[in-house]
Amino acid sequence: MHEHPEFDDHEQVIFCRDAAAGLRAIIAIHSTALGPAAGGCRMWPYASEEDALTDVLRLSRAMSYKNALADLPLGGGKSVVIADPAKDKNEALLQAFARQVDNLGGRYLTAEDVGVGMADVEVMARVSKHVFGLPSTGDPSPFTARGAFQGIRAAVRCKLGRDELTGLSVAVQGVGRVGFELSKLLHEAGARLTVTDTDAAALERSVSSFGAIPVGVDAIYEQEVDVFAPCALGGVLNDNTISKLQAPIVAGVANNQLAEDRHGQILHENGVLVAPDYVVNAGGMLNGSGDIFGSYDVSKVLPRIDKIYDRTLMILERSLAEDRPPHLIADELAREKIAKG
Ligand code: NAD
Repeated sequence: MHEHPEFDDHEQVIFCRDAAAGLRAIIAIHSTALGPAAGGCRMWPYASEEDALTDVLRLSRAMSYKNALADLPLGGGKSVVIADPAKDKNEALLQAFARQVDNLGGRYLTAEDVGVGMADVEVMARVSKHVFGLPSTGDPSPFTARGAFQGIRAAVRCKLGRDELTGLSVAVQGVGRVGFELSKLLHEAGARLTVTDTDAAALERSVSSFGAIPVGVDAIYEQEVDVFAPCALGGVLNDNTISKLQAPIVAGVANNQLAEDRHGQILHENGVLVAPDYVVNAGGMLNGSGDIFGSYDVSKVLPRIDKIYDRTLMILERSLAEDRPPHLIADELAREKIAKG
C-alpha cells in the first residue's frame, strides 16, 4: 500500500468486507487536518481491486484539496463499493456499507457519487448518522453546474479577455445530470453548444432543448471551439486526446480529468488553459455539506458557490504569471491550507 503510486500519505485506508451482504468496499481517508474526511461513495463494477484502490486513493486526495480550497472545515475522503449498481445494489448492501462508515465514528462522512444516488444515501442514513447530502439539500447537480459555469466564466476572462459568453462556443462531453444543467446555463448566457454523449436520449434532450450540435464521442475533442467542458468521465486528458484538442480552454466538472500530471504540463506548454477540476466542480459539495453543519440555507450557499469565479481566476492568473500549469498551483495552495490545519 505505502508503495502504491497514488498513495499520498493517506491517513487511513480501510478494506471492508461483509460476506453476507456481498459487500467489497474500500474507504480512503486522505486527511482530517481541516475536519472530518468528507466525500461520496462510488459504486462501480471495477475490473479489479487494484483499479478500485487506484480510484479511491486519487479521489480521496482530490476531496481533501477540493474541500480545502472551497474553504470548508472538512478533510478529504472517498469510498468505493466494488459492485454493479444496475445489478447488485440493494438495501442490504447499502446498509452493510453504512455500518462500516459508522464504525469509523465520524472520521469519514459519506454521500452520493457515481452509482449511488440520493435515495441510496437515505437508506444508509437509517443505520449511520455519518452521511450527508440528504434530500433536504436537494439534487447537487444544478449547484455543481452553477459553480462550473463560474469556473468557465473565469477561464474565458483569463484566456480570452471577455466577460460575456454570448457567441462563445463550448463543447460539452457528457450531458448527464451536471452536463445538462451546465448546458442550460451556457445556452441562457448566449453560448453555442456542441455536445456528445454515449446515451442517445441524453444527447437528444440537449439537442432539442438548446439547439446543440451533436457529435460522436471521439469527435468531441477535435471541435474548433473556445471551451472544452469534460462532464462525463475522468482521465479524458491523456496521450490519445490532448493532441486532438483545438479549444484554448478546458473547464468542466468531471473528476480527475488529467490522466497523469504530465498531461497538465503538456497542455500548459501547448497554450491550453486547464481550469483545475476540483476547484470548478465544488458547487455540489458546498451545497450538500450544508447538512453536516445542521444549518442548511440555500441563500447562504449560492454566494459561496459563486466565489468559484474568483478562486478559479486567481489560480489561472497565477498560472500565466508564473508559467506553471494551473493544477500545480491549485495543489500547492490546497496543501498549504491543509498543512496550516
Ligand atoms: P451522469 O452519470 O449523470 O452524467 C454523465 C454522462 O456522461 C451520462 O449522460 C453518460 O451517458 C455520459 N457518458 C459516459 N461515458 C461517456 C463518454 N465516453 N463520452 C461521452 N459521454 C459519456 O453524472 P454527473 O452527475 O452528471 O457527473 C458527471 C461528472 O462530474 C462525473 O465525473 C462526476 O464524478 C463529476 N461530478 C459530479 C458532481 C455532481 O454534483 N453530480 C459533482 C462533482 C463532480
